[in-house]
Amino acid sequence: MLLYLDLDGVMIPANSWSSPVILEDGFPEFNEVAVNSLNRIISFSGASIVLTTSRKHKFTSEQWRKIFKRRNIIVGDLSKLPQNTKHLSRREELVNWISEKNRDNNFLIIDDDKSLNDLPPSLKSKLIQTSASVGLTDYLAEEALRKISNNLLGE
Ligand SMILES: [Mg+2]
Repeated sequence: MLLYLDLDGVMIPANSWSSPVILEDGFPEFNEVAVNSLNRIISFSGASIVLTTSRKHKFTSEQWRKIFKRRNIIVGDLSKLPQNTKHLSRREELVNWISEKNRDNNFLIIDDDKSLNDLPPSLKSKLIQTSASVGLTDYLAEEALRKISNNLLGE
């Protein structure tokens, strides 16, 4: 199973009153609740990560794995969507990629991007949409676990 994962507004909530703390690896720290929530989803599903964040190509996959590890998230397979050279919306990026490449139906999208409200229903049912200022929460992790279980049951 795959998790199409955004970072800003998901693992890094957008606080209007403070800029995020940058760790020694040059990337912002992750929110603690978001880390616990993502770890719940990963340990329940064994999902691999596909990074969708606009910053995905700032680091190699190996560097990303270390960035996650430093923030207490152990990821197995980690890949990235292709560089968004055509300045597509997140919705267009995902629709294009998934219709081209995704061989199975077993994935979730975790993202705060508002363009995803207009996903086709078959993809929207796989969206866990965070609030940009809050990020990934325990409540949303529950929703993800429910969707994963239903998917396993073929519902
Ligand atoms: Mg975002």
